[in-house]
Amino acid sequence: MKTYDLYINGQWTKSSNDRVIQVENPATKEIVACVPRGNAEDVDKAVLAARSAQADWAAKPVKERADLMRKLADVIESKHDELCLVISNEMGIPLKHALGYHVSGASNEARFFADMAENFQYEIPMEGGAVLREPVGVVAGITPWNYPLDQATYKLFPAIVSGNTVVLKPSQNAPTCCLILAECFDEAGFPAGVFNVVTGVAGEVGNALATHKEVDAVSFTGSTSGGIEVGKLALNTVKKIALELGGKSPLIVLEGGDLEAAVEHVCSDAFMNTGQTCCAYTRFLIHESLKERAEELLKAEAAKYITGDPLDDNTEVGPLVSEKAWIKVKGYIEKGIAEGARLIAGEIPENCDNGYYVKPAVFMDVTNDMTIAQEEIFGPVLSVITFKDDDEAVAIGNDTQYGLASGVYGPQDRAMAVAKRLKAGNCSVNGAGGSLAYPFGGYKMSGIGRELGTFGFEEFLEIKSVFFA
Ligand code: NAP
Repeated sequence: MKTYDLYINGQWTKSSNDRVIQVENPATKEIVACVPRGNAEDVDKAVLAARSAQADWAAKPVKERADLMRKLADVIESKHDELCLVISNEMGIPLKHALGYHVSGASNEARFFADMAENFQYEIPMEGGAVLREPVGVVAGITPWNYPLDQATYKLFPAIVSGNTVVLKPSQNAPTCCLILAECFDEAGFPAGVFNVVTGVAGEVGNALATHKEVDAVSFTGSTSGGIEVGKLALNTVKKIALELGGKSPLIVLEGGDLEAAVEHVCSDAFMNTGQTCCAYTRFLIHESLKERAEELLKAEAAKYITGDPLDDNTEVGPLVSEKAWIKVKGYIEKGIAEGARLIAGEIPENCDNGYYVKPAVFMDVTNDMTIAQEEIFGPVLSVITFKDDDEAVAIGNDTQYGLASGVYGPQDRAMAVAKRLKAGNCSVNGAGGSLAYPFGGYKMSGIGRELGTFGFEEFLEIKSVFFA
């Protein structure tokens, strides 16, 4: 088991108390790492370090900041194996998927935002003056465990390369990759105080960051309930707030859509990362004429998702992250059956004595008012719902408090028409994927603001009008 300290002002620093968080491997229940359970005093040190580093960092030529970011990308690449292993050990992703799903994105993002920073127009000339874009200042990042590295880097990289400094609080469930990321910042040669990590728990480190008067912006990724609480706290000192929250996303197959491709797509989306993906398609909306064939295809496809030991090369689905998550997901499977949905794949898991495993579950005969169709389960559970026509598909798709992602399969013109009517931050038409250049984020209770793309970069910039003769 490895132990870590906090990373504050370019130094590995003991917490001001000696409490720790023991990080559990959800596949074996072994303790795999031990990190400090930081507190408000540690947050204060980190925020003040970030504050005192910020002006000098912002004053450096953008090329210098961007080149450091590119160096960081190289260092991250040199630690790929270590990052894959700790992420797999801490949140259960099969090791063979850790690089593709969790790790390789980080260096691409660092280079992407380095280029964006160098090409961004920070001064927009106007008649009689100009509009300036300037770094916000000190940014607090509060991040989840389900993609523990890239949910942090989506914030850190644009924030830092644009001249802000950052204090990060990673999730208590999977914090270690963010401490390895701090090693990378150190090795790449970033000035002290530009990036700081304080590990700890929500009510202590999270709250201290959201309320600290020297924090100018809070960028939160996590549950909708957590985001609302953090947002309210941050508003007391009117910080800039960005929230990336939960989802209950629909994938729609119109009459005439490619059902085979859609089934493959929906299963990989709903089951990868053991269903613990914010933007996963967890509601599969199909035209009523496709129901029988869809059932056959879904049974066959779900059977391919072998659940088991994340270190076994045959495994497609690892354990859920924790006992709490296992109890919650089991409860939703029971609830789906009790509310009258028909389970055609998966089962009610019996016990979690040997890891927090739940086999991918598919429910037919779901109606959109059922609990399993409305609440974010955050496990490998797919609900299949039928509709009569395109209007009904849109109505069901939008009948949710969330609005993170969506997708449509169908004849191109009709699929595009449906895509335009869906209230979600993104929509994939006929299986097309996005890129780092596209903004990511949610409508409704899925969030405020965007990450990635130019819009995600601008979240970390203030706007100033300057009038001159
Ligand atoms: P979470 O329980 O809300 O926690 C997220 C982070 O916020 C953790 O670091 C947590 O600390 C902290 N936190 C939670 N409540 C807080 C509070 N009241 N005050 C201060 N800090 C607080 O979410 P999670 O279980 O880690 O992640 C899963 C959720 O994140 C899902 O709902 C998923 O949809 C969402 N998510 C959204 C996106 C997106 O881009 N929209 C991406 C990934 C995940 P602790 O670790 O100590 O609890």
